[in-house]
Amino acid sequence: MGNMNFVQRSNLFNFTATRCLRNEYYHNDCRICIDLCPKGAFHIVRNKLTLFENECIGCAGCIGSCPTESLEIESFDPNGFAASYVNQSDTTLSCKVSTPCLGVFDTEHYAVMALRSQKNVACDLSHCAGCVLNENGKLGDVIREKIDVANDFLTSIQTPYRIETIEMQEQQNERRALFRKGFEKIKESVVNDSGAEIAMTTAHHKLPDMKMPLKRILLKNSLKEVIGGVEKTDFAETSPLFFNKQIDFHSCTNCGECTQFCPTDALFPTSDKQGIFFSQGKCIGCSICEEICKPKAITKKVGFDLVSIAFDRAEQLVHYEMVMCHECRCPYPYKGGDPICDRCADYTKTFSNMFTLAKDM
Ligand code: SF4
Ligand code: SF4
Ligand code: SF4
Repeated sequence: MGNMNFVQRSNLFNFTATRCLRNEYYHNDCRICIDLCPKGAFHIVRNKLTLFENECIGCAGCIGSCPTESLEIESFDPNGFAASYVNQSDTTLSCKVSTPCLGVFDTEHYAVMALRSQKNVACDLSHCAGCVLNENGKLGDVIREKIDVANDFLTSIQTPYRIETIEMQEQQNERRALFRKGFEKIKESVVNDSGAEIAMTTAHHKLPDMKMPLKRILLKNSLKEVIGGVEKTDFAETSPLFFNKQIDFHSCTNCGECTQFCPTDALFPTSDKQGIFFSQGKCIGCSICEEICKPKAITKKVGFDLVSIAFDRAEQLVHYEMVMCHECRCPYPYKGGDPICDRCADYTKTFSNMFTLAKDM
C-alpha cells in the first residue's frame, strides 16, 4: 500500500488520490469504484479511499466509471482512443481485439466515437457473460447502462448513429479458462515490457488535480461540431449525462461555499462576489454543492440545454444587493424587510428572553 496522498501505482494501474472526490471532499461518499472492482482492491482506510496494489489486477473495468478520471491504466487512454476512433481500421470495440475491458469507457466516450466518426460504433459484449471480472454481472450491467445512456443522447440530438452491441453465445467454462490464461499472459508481458505489446494508444494525458475531466471536454467539443444541425437543443427532462442546478434566493446566504468546493468550477462567483454563476457544461453531478450547502438552498433542476453545455454558457443563479446591517454594521445580502443580517436576527431571537429580563429589571 503506497502513500495515499500521491499517485498510487499498481503495475498497469494508477490511482490519483488527490483527484478522488471521496478523498478530497469530506462531504462526498462516492464509492463507484469500490462497488465495481471484481477483486475488492479498493478499501476505505481512515475514511480515505485506498488502493491495495497487491489486490488490483489492472483489468480496467472501473476506469470509465470514475467521474473525475482518478483511475487510469498506463497502457490504454480511453480519451485518446475515443478522439482518434475515426482513424481506426477495425471499428468494433472488443476486449479481445482493440481495447481492455469495455468498462474502460464512459458514456461520453461512446457518444464522442459516434459523433466524430459519423457512423455506428459496434461493441462486442459476447465475452461479458463468461468473464471472471463480471461474475456478479455488475460490470456487464454498467457497460450496457452507459451504452443505453449514450444512445438516448444520440437519439435526442437526432443523429442517425448509434452504439450497437454484439452478443454471441460462447462456451462459458472454456471462455473463463481462456480468459484467465490470456489475462495472465498480458499481465506478464506488461510487467516485463511496459511500453510494447499492449500499447493500444499513445496519447496519454496528465490532468492537473481536480479539474474538468477530459472525457467531458471531448464530448463538449464534439457537440460543438454538430450542434448547428440539431433542431431541438433545450430539454425539459432530466438526463443521467447532464446536470442542472437552481439556488433559492431566499434561503441562500451567499456564503460562497458551493463555489469554493465545486471541483470543476461549474459554480463560480460573479465578479462583484454578490452572486453565483452556474455552467451546465462543467457540472459532473457530484452533488458536493448540495451536500455542503447548510440552508439547502441549492438543488437539482430539471432540464438541460445543449447549446449552454457545448459553449460553456453560464447562467446567473442568484444575485444580491449588499447592504449594511443596522445592528452590527457588516455588509450582508439583503432579501427585503428590516435591514438586519441573519446573524443579528438569530441572535435577537435566541436571546430574546434575556433582553426581556433586562428591560423588566
Ligand atoms: S470512482 Fe473515482 S471519485 Fe469515486 S471513489 Fe472511486 S476514485 Fe474516487
Ligand atoms: S447556495 Fe448554499 S453554499 Fe452556495 S452560497 Fe448559497 S448558502 Fe452558500
Ligand atoms: S455544481 Fe455541484 S454537482 Fe456540479 S460539479 Fe459542482 S459541486 Fe458537483
